[in-house]
Amino acid sequence: MRVKHTAWCSMIECDLHDFDDKPREECGIIGILCHEPSLSTSGLIYRGLYALQHRGQESAGIATYKDEHIHVKRGSGLLMHVFNPEDFDVLKGDIGIGHVRYSTTGSGYKQNVQPIIARFRGGMMAISHNGNIVNSKELRNELIEDGSLIRSSSDTELIMHLIAREKRQSLRETVLAALGKLKGAYSIVMIVGEKLIAVRDPYGFRPLCLGKLGSGFVLASESTALDTMSAEFVRDVQPGELVQVDGSGIESCIFKKSERNSLCVFEYIYFARADSIIDGISVYEVRKRMGRELARLSTVQADVVIPVPDSGVTTAIGFSREAGIPYEIGLFKNSYVGRTFIDPMVDERGTKVKIKLNPIRSSLQDRRVAVVDDSIVRGTTSKRIIKMIRDAGAREVHMYISSPPITHPCFFGIDTSEKKTLIASTQSIDDIRKFLGVDTLTYITLEGLSHAVGKPMDSLCYACFNGDYPVPVSEDDHEGKLLLEDYKVNEM
Ligand code: SF4
Repeated sequence: MRVKHTAWCSMIECDLHDFDDKPREECGIIGILCHEPSLSTSGLIYRGLYALQHRGQESAGIATYKDEHIHVKRGSGLLMHVFNPEDFDVLKGDIGIGHVRYSTTGSGYKQNVQPIIARFRGGMMAISHNGNIVNSKELRNELIEDGSLIRSSSDTELIMHLIAREKRQSLRETVLAALGKLKGAYSIVMIVGEKLIAVRDPYGFRPLCLGKLGSGFVLASESTALDTMSAEFVRDVQPGELVQVDGSGIESCIFKKSERNSLCVFEYIYFARADSIIDGISVYEVRKRMGRELARLSTVQADVVIPVPDSGVTTAIGFSREAGIPYEIGLFKNSYVGRTFIDPMVDERGTKVKIKLNPIRSSLQDRRVAVVDDSIVRGTTSKRIIKMIRDAGAREVHMYISSPPITHPCFFGIDTSEKKTLIASTQSIDDIRKFLGVDTLTYITLEGLSHAVGKPMDSLCYACFNGDYPVPVSEDDHEGKLLLEDYKVNEM
């Protein structure tokens, strides 16, 4: 968690989104080409990004293209802090892309805020990217050796350099030659000249879907963004597919098929909004089925089922229905939390959790409580939540987690800390139970999770639970991402 000491007192500024101890999605992206005179392209992108705000709260940006110029507005913070109504008068054009971002430790540089813009021989280019390129360290070093000037620590800039250096006959061949050098996870939307191009990596780690809006097309990380833009869902972009949209219509090709699909299973567990449909499967329905799987694993009686809001809500509903135990709200979440000031001296007593959550005693007192959450990373926040439930008078607390124990870090665009900080990588389930202070602790199994999603194990990525990385990676790749040693700038 990033903290900032203020000059005027001993309080520190902190972002309450940061303390959650959850894996973090790093980005949401939107691309649109729409010639409807009655619709503002940038206004539509803003609406779409609003529906994707849960995928990144640290920065936001929109770039549009008109008359050989890119118009761009980018900044730190939530969309509502970055954009003003007058920005949409300046962000002109029928083609545009947008981005919301959560950055990993040390990579919150201003230069990393997307979309990233550059000029190359094909005209102006703007890129928004969701995912993580695992060979970025190697690519960055090669580009620097070859004389490229690297302005940021972002792997998205590397993609731009690779495209600029290719000299192929067509734009599509140029982009595909550059993509051929990438290893890892990437869903990308880009403006190149007067075209909108969208790409999903051959493993399909990150979601990307296609929608129709009037005579135009929209691409977005999640279908909920299409709904918000009043676009009609057409289909998911396939792993290894390139979609190109311009004034004459839409074309697509499968540029590479991998031996397996590897959509990140955490999209269903936690990242995606419950109202999204990803790769043809309703996130809401998967979460309810995960709750049912957990209820079937339960060996104890409870009087009430409560979720840890918001992400445990849908799963707790499924649990309640399967177990026949009443569903209650036991923890009330303050919806208005963001940046706030706290006293570091009292923080040890769980101030941040208390600002965000408050127990409803009548749901908990003298009850045997089944509490449902989606994941445990370090366990520190879960421990405080359990204490809150016990202090409110719960007689027994039984915890149910809708992901298997997280034992391995993610290299594909999710911030899951280093391996040594993942509690399940070093401790047994019973040790974690004791640390949290719960009577029983039940994780969903890999098989149960796969069953809830409704797809075979080898069609999703489960690597943070079983270490089976679809793309070979090393700790060195992870260090390269976190330490950013190739970009030695300390910007204030
Ligand atoms: S390692 Fe885990 S978080 Fe990363 S892509 Fe795979 S399933 Fe998702």
